[in-house]
Amino acid sequence: MFTVMSQLAVKHDAINLGQGFPDTEGPADIIAVAAEALKDNRNQYAPLTGLPELREAVAASNKRFYGLEIDPATEVVVTSGATEALAACLMAVVEAGDEVVLIEPLYDTYLPMLKLIGAVPKCVRLQPPHWELPIEELRAAFGPKTKAMILNSPMNPAGKVFSQAELDLIAGLVREHDAYVVCDEVYEHLTFHVKHIPLMTLPDMRERCMRIGSAGKSFSLTGWKVGYVTAPAALASVIAKAHQVMVFATAPNLQRAVAHGLNKDDGYYQGLSADLELRRDLLRDGLHRLGFETLPADGSYFIVADITRHAQGRTDVEFAKWLVEHAGVATIPVSAFYDPEGPAAPQNLIRFAFCKKPEILEEALRRLEKALT
Ligand code: PMP
Repeated sequence: MFTVMSQLAVKHDAINLGQGFPDTEGPADIIAVAAEALKDNRNQYAPLTGLPELREAVAASNKRFYGLEIDPATEVVVTSGATEALAACLMAVVEAGDEVVLIEPLYDTYLPMLKLIGAVPKCVRLQPPHWELPIEELRAAFGPKTKAMILNSPMNPAGKVFSQAELDLIAGLVREHDAYVVCDEVYEHLTFHVKHIPLMTLPDMRERCMRIGSAGKSFSLTGWKVGYVTAPAALASVIAKAHQVMVFATAPNLQRAVAHGLNKDDGYYQGLSADLELRRDLLRDGLHRLGFETLPADGSYFIVADITRHAQGRTDVEFAKWLVEHAGVATIPVSAFYDPEGPAAPQNLIRFAFCKKPEILEEALRRLEKALT
């Protein structure tokens, strides 16, 4: 569906609010460090688990934002993007036949990765229109074969940031079932007046969680594909083995630049989320004016809109295709974020990415208005 929508976007010269990447460059100082770092003779393989300066910056960032004490020598693994980190973490703890609890709508790489491993996904669905976590269903998804859970907060595509109460509940189930948690926190710094709480900070979770971050998201440099995992030493050493067989080492100049980025002051991080929040508000308010209802979007690059009022019986896929052809605006139908082998997915929701320039968002709204009114 992502490829289909992107191809249609090109064909119809559409504004692409389907793909989640910023249309501006990341901070110039970080890019300058990467460029300079190419010139001082450190271009051979980096150490397997990452350059010491980046591992130290990851540990310092864990301490600064969440009070987590992390040993940079043994508890950090640098990867080529969060995608590789996800694969490495899953390979580290999950084996064929193990059950893994997931929350739908979900980021599209989780299920294919679990399939490759031969694991059995157990999906629980958030309930629109408030993206509520159904407690009894979550409890029922855990069982004797549960090996792990993947928890994505802030969440793509839902924009949900899990609350303290929800995390307490999840932690209780994880503890009870002696499971691991792969915590996909790539949007950790992209929240809007809601506090992101890593599950790893809850009691007993330090030893069970593998916390994943992405320089692509934290520094608006999605093409760099630099990720980092924070995990207890026993797990980190196994994650490092998976990383060794998949990639081995990540580009050293990018690692040095990301270390510089992670050490930026709090003002940088506040500016990043405040700027994105303005864009979310711009798109959300515009969608409301056009008669779309939107679902809560407290974090990430994305907001989900209910198409019922405009779709005239069309499914999300049909409506999204119609929008790209007739309005020149590409989105992603949210049914693409559900297990295709599970029960029928909701067909009344589409996802917009708002990590675009304000003038692009305004133009997209103008195009939508023209096509829909
Ligand atoms: N997890 C989620 C929830 C994402 O949205 C993305 C990027 N779209 C990733 C992981 C992958 O991040 P990276 O580009 O660092 O591999």
